[in-house]
Amino acid sequence: MSVELSVVVPMYDEAEVLPLLVERLRPALDGTGASYEVVAVDDGSKDATPVLLQRYRKEWPQLRVLRLRANAGHQAAISAGLAYAVGDYVATLDADLQDPPEVLAQMLEVARRDGVDVVYGVRSDRSSDSAFKRGSARAFYRLLRSLGQTSAQVDAGDYRLMSRATVQAVNALPEHHRVLRFVVPALGFPSASVGYRREVRAAGRSKYPLARMVKLSVDSITGFSTAPLRLATWCGIGGGIAAILLLVYALVAQLRNQTVAGWTSTVVAVASVGAIQLLCVGILGEYVGRMYTMMQGRPSYFVAYDSAAEDKDTDTTV
Ligand code: UDP
Ligand code: MG
Repeated sequence: MSVELSVVVPMYDEAEVLPLLVERLRPALDGTGASYEVVAVDDGSKDATPVLLQRYRKEWPQLRVLRLRANAGHQAAISAGLAYAVGDYVATLDADLQDPPEVLAQMLEVARRDGVDVVYGVRSDRSSDSAFKRGSARAFYRLLRSLGQTSAQVDAGDYRLMSRATVQAVNALPEHHRVLRFVVPALGFPSASVGYRREVRAAGRSKYPLARMVKLSVDSITGFSTAPLRLATWCGIGGGIAAILLLVYALVAQLRNQTVAGWTSTVVAVASVGAIQLLCVGILGEYVGRMYTMMQGRPSYFVAYDSAAEDKDTDTTV
């Protein structure tokens, strides 16, 4: 039986929100009239998420459960779901109900009516996000644009619908640290967007602490731009010129017998040069790190369990 719509839902410790999600997602999908599957990707949850998923699966045949062996992160969890989903269209949706599932019907309709491959969910109202999240997002998009990332949809997160062709193109990318919201627009498929109101998290806590936000930002930039490497070069040039000026100054002062204790200038010079060097080494490290993980060629996630395989009564490891 062919499936018209797959909905990939990454979840990491989402036991609190899961009952609310099922309560809203199921009628929303039943209402589309399309045949569908929900691919719940349990991203190595440590709470009751896997237990609850197994329970829901018994009464909701369209629910398919993938379990990753360890926490692989939001983007990798979505990638796993995309690799396993079988639908003609595949949507991705966060588990926390910040993105209303009712919009899925509209996305599917737009994709079919307009014949587009990608339908982005665009947050037309972000008042539910914290001021810090909104401010940092705006500054970040401005930075990305100035670095030449022009294809990205502003205010589009990971709520989107993709055609099978798009999903195949995404799955074929070997890139590891891919940030899908930038990778998908860059593929250049015909697209449309649907506006929606972003709501507050229905239950549980955000799984995106500051450190993860920083990681996503660094992956976003290093994923398409080598401009930071050039920044390192410019820092080097600037530092070099400053060093030559300082050298001339020191020699002149020496010749005029004006050598003073000079502790402050020494410390400032050493500290600032040290800081610039550390920054540049750090930037280099980010790119070397990307190459390292790419060369290892390991998958960015391990699927430990697929309920669909179990349904077919084939061998699986749990
Ligand atoms: N998530 C995940 N793996 C992780 C972190 C998050 O699968 O390592 C999921 C999470 O369960 C949720 C989605 O990614 O469904 C978005 O995370 P969250 O809502 O915590 O992020 P925020 O909306 O606060 O940016
Ligand atoms: Mg959220």
